[in-house]
Amino acid sequence: MRAIIIGAGITGPVTAMALQKAGIDATVHEAYDRTADGVGAYLTLAANGLAALRVLGIDHRELGGFDTPALELRGASGRVLTRLAMSRDDDAGTVSQTVRRSDLYVRLRDEAVRRGIPIEYGKRFVNTTTLPDGGVVASFADGSTAQGDLLIGADGLHSRVREILDPSCPPPRYTGLLNTGGYASGVSVDTPQGLFTMTFGKRAFFAYANRGPGDVWWFANVPRARAATSDELAAWTPDRWRAELTRLFADDDGPALDLIAATPDIVPPWNTLDLPTVPVWHRGPIGLIGDAAHAISPTSGQGASLAIEDGVLLARFLRDHDGPATAFAAFEASRRGRVEKLIAQAKRTSNQKIPNPFTRLVRDRLILPLVGRAAARTTRDWVTDYRIDWDAPADQAPLRA
Ligand SMILES: Cc1cc2nc3c(=O)[nH]c(=O)nc-3n(C[C@H](O)[C@H](O)[C@H](O)COP(=O)(O)OP(=O)(O)OC[C@H]3O[C@@H](n4cnc5c(N)ncnc54)[C@H](O)[C@@H]3O)c2cc1C
Repeated sequence: MRAIIIGAGITGPVTAMALQKAGIDATVHEAYDRTADGVGAYLTLAANGLAALRVLGIDHRELGGFDTPALELRGASGRVLTRLAMSRDDDAGTVSQTVRRSDLYVRLRDEAVRRGIPIEYGKRFVNTTTLPDGGVVASFADGSTAQGDLLIGADGLHSRVREILDPSCPPPRYTGLLNTGGYASGVSVDTPQGLFTMTFGKRAFFAYANRGPGDVWWFANVPRARAATSDELAAWTPDRWRAELTRLFADDDGPALDLIAATPDIVPPWNTLDLPTVPVWHRGPIGLIGDAAHAISPTSGQGASLAIEDGVLLARFLRDHDGPATAFAAFEASRRGRVEKLIAQAKRTSNQKIPNPFTRLVRDRLILPLVGRAAARTTRDWVTDYRIDWDAPADQAPLRA
């Protein structure tokens, strides 16, 4: 079998490496010439995503990130509301990692290339046709084509493959928050290294993690009733955006103002989007995977981890099924419940970040203390304890979670 993979973000190279492990050749086709997008932002990889990478022989210590084992939630006055583990220790000592998106992309792509997987750049996928013998042809904006036995759409939130599979698929949903962040340097905070400290501020949400002496990574979620247009986003020049963030956090406890001041380049704001449900995940030899099938708000800290799980699981289904059509169907059956439940959960968490006196009361007095107590009692977590047994037959209940 030969696979055409569209997109060399996180899902594309991971899926190609997993397919190689399953004995299936793949070529990855990426629209851009540059090696990383989303330059500037960072993300957190949870234990479930790191465990899936380990199936491919990639250790979390190779990713260039730092350990972020726990988070603390605070109110605007600085009162600690609860403290939660971001990943539990498991037998491999895996601890949740926070890593620059661009570093993660480059590392995964470099590793795929080192393993002999072809990645072709400047290949913007535009269309596909299915051949009478069951094969598939992908065409690209530069006029070239590629032929294979299956086509995997790993082309992210604004997937062209998804649009072809189902032109009436609902567009991504705005979740009510603008996102921004940055890397402060030469400034100290009094929280332990790696602890994500998150504050439900009076006007917006602020989070930071101490990476090491003088090195603090932060992000902010700014409520906004409707998605900003590209013109509105462009109007936030770096100086205007810095002044706006300074205003938003002026009345909150914590180091937000110092961190904003100590950040030379603040990542410009962008709309936070998700895809609550994508009706069509596959047809014949064509299927979706990663953000293309189930983008989740960054609030979850799970988008990249789910994408990595996807790649490993799909490869296992393709290994054990006679053809791509049944493998894609089995993949969807095993994945849709988990990812849609998580997307809904992340949306509820995003709603909690939108300041509102009633929500604040219920959240601070009821929900968070309950969440904290439940987390302290639970020994297993359905999100981060998800593990893939590569050697188990794909259609057997394959996971411990
Ligand atoms: C700022 C930010 C912060 C985030 N924080 C977190 C976090 O803390 N934790 C977490 O787990 N997740 C986080 N996420 C989500 C995470 O980045 C995504 O879930 C993950 O990148 C999905 O990987 P993907 O490969 O499916 O899609 P992408 O990473 O978007 O990759 C898609 C690739 O396809 C390419 N492509 C698109 N269209 C075409 C085409 N027509 N032809 C060819 N190639 C194409 C794109 O150029 C891109 O390289 C965050 C996302 C953002 C934007």
